[in-house]
Amino acid sequence: MECKTFHHWLRTRDGNKQDSPEEMAHQKDCSDCQQLYTLDTRAEQGVALAFASHELPRDLAAKIDRCLDLERPPSQQFFTGDKGNAAKNSGG
Ligand SMILES: [Zn+2]
Repeated sequence: MECKTFHHWLRTRDGNKQDSPEEMAHQKDCSDCQQLYTLDTRAEQGVALAFASHELPRDLAAKIDRCLDLERPPSQQFFTGDKGNAAKNSGG
């Protein structure tokens, strides 16, 4: 297979389809095409993630904020007693 053919396949491939064995065999032997394939795969995953995050409801952040607010105590007072340093002078 020529690199040209591989490049064409890479540009037109469908992310949902399984990679064809012929192209996989080429990118195994050709380091240039392997690099392109890795970059392209990462880019597609990045785009997919970006689109997924946009589908979240807009008020989700506010809801999470409120939940966190409820969990957080108004004031964090763990020390109720006052333990000072009792200096004892012995002897005399
Ligand atoms: Zn190649």
